[in-house]
Amino acid sequence: MTKLSGRCLCGAVTWCYDGPRGRNLICHCTSCQRAASSAYAAFVEVDPKQVSWSGTPNHYQSSPGTFRGFCPTCGTRLYFRSDRWPGELHIHAATLDDATLYQPDCQVVLRERAPWLDGIDALPRHDGFDTPPSDQ
Ligand SMILES: [Zn+2]
Ligand SMILES: [Zn+2]
Repeated sequence: MTKLSGRCLCGAVTWCYDGPRGRNLICHCTSCQRAASSAYAAFVEVDPKQVSWSGTPNHYQSSPGTFRGFCPTCGTRLYFRSDRWPGELHIHAATLDDATLYQPDCQVVLRERAPWLDGIDALPRHDGFDTPPSDQ
């Protein structure tokens, strides 16, 4: 059993979980890319019956029976769920209060991986925005 908690950017929606951990997927599908406005989405799988919410997430039905939850105030993506897997709720790992509790264990839909991810490890690195990018 694992205790996890998280919140959206503005704090209007928070979640708490106390239950078994499932898969920790990084999804590269283009739907997750667009939904998260990011190169990929990292998820924590939880038992939907063991999650408690404060605030009320809204959701968008991205395909028949597939729902993507988000904060109605700030728009932070909160979860993915599908009628295909009714016992699973996939919460966006980026909403965790403690990011050290997350360790992805699988990448899926690599055929749709954002091509611009290639080579980013070789880019100049800065700890903050205070250092101007170096000329390349
Ligand atoms: Zn919010
Ligand atoms: Zn996906």
